Amino acid sequence: MSGMIFADSLSRLGTESAFVVLARAQALAQQGKDIINLGIGQPDFATPEHISEAAIKAIRDGQHGYTPANGILPLRQAVAADLHRRHRVEVNPDNVVVVPGGKPTMFFAVMMFGQPGAEIMYPNPGFPIYESVIKYSGATPVPIALEEKNGFAFSAEQVLSQITERTRLIIINSPANPTGGVTPKAEIDKLVAGLMDHPHVALMSDEIYSQMLYGGREHTSLLQYPEIRDRLIMLDGWSKTYAMTGWRLGYAVWPEAAVDHVTRLCINDHSCVNAPTQYAGLAALNGPQDCVTDMVAQFDARRQVIVDALNDLPGVRCADAAGAFYAFPNIEGTGLTSKQAQDKFLEEAGVATVAGTSFGAWGEGYLRFSYANSTENILEAISRIKKLL
Ligand code: PLP
Repeated sequence: MSGMIFADSLSRLGTESAFVVLARAQALAQQGKDIINLGIGQPDFATPEHISEAAIKAIRDGQHGYTPANGILPLRQAVAADLHRRHRVEVNPDNVVVVPGGKPTMFFAVMMFGQPGAEIMYPNPGFPIYESVIKYSGATPVPIALEEKNGFAFSAEQVLSQITERTRLIIINSPANPTGGVTPKAEIDKLVAGLMDHPHVALMSDEIYSQMLYGGREHTSLLQYPEIRDRLIMLDGWSKTYAMTGWRLGYAVWPEAAVDHVTRLCINDHSCVNAPTQYAGLAALNGPQDCVTDMVAQFDARRQVIVDALNDLPGVRCADAAGAFYAFPNIEGTGLTSKQAQDKFLEEAGVATVAGTSFGAWGEGYLRFSYANSTENILEAISRIKKLL
């Protein structure tokens, strides 16, 4: 036993169970088991070649030094142009801060506002890192309950009713992980209008799945509300859109008053994103976008396959998945808890999924299926589960 004495805060830090499932699935695969991974939330496509080539060229061109902590200017300009193209909004490239992935923005935002006595609201079930980091910061996590009957959209009324004078930050996420839920524009309008009465509350809108909406739905970016731009952190990135999860590249648009704070956090934490990756990100934004449209079309086709197949399972009910690349069926009718279903499906059917409870207490009774996998694998996975049930 080591005599080291760790900081108390570590006991409050959670994790992302998808990585634990991934490790177990890989261990089973190494033992020769045939595993279909519907657990991890990453595109199964390769990064488009012109993007990878840009990074290779950057290395050859000698782009191997530090860059500005907030990212190279052409990349921040390209982000602003992309946001104008997609959301019809004006963004000053000086407010864009490029970081290694989507996660650092949420970590920094929570660290900036979280401390004992502060309250931070977050979606539940939601991306597990929100609750984990809020607890780590010492702040009190206040869940925004997301329910199947509302298509897993948040209710503005519920969010607004939970605001107190201690509320510092509200985190929202649409399209959402793990539910695939998309919050309708009318609800966002209501939230923004209500926030006018609470000028002390900042908002972080996690829009990492902003290009993955289906069935004719359109994304509403919080950037489209000028009245909250002075307290809005809008998170987006390359991981999901351009199949670049392993590159570690993301960004956020920060309000004027927070830009220096977040830049200092970057300097203290990682200095800057590695330079060749930033050139890859630049090629992604400035290059042709049909790679994105193609991937999204394939996700949409698989989405329809998986939702139908899940609804065909005994004891399972799956709502229409409106966005991202997740289906979040209700499995209560199987008699299994979320965790039991996750373990049973992996160990006995060789299908990796993630228990709804990995995304918060409100996820009990649900299981997350990532459909970032081939249609063939999806159908095989569901047929194995069907046999088991
Ligand atoms: N935000 C949400 C809602 C996510 O689901 C994820 C990844 O799963 C991220 C952020 C983090 O993305 P990245 O891998 O770029 O850190």
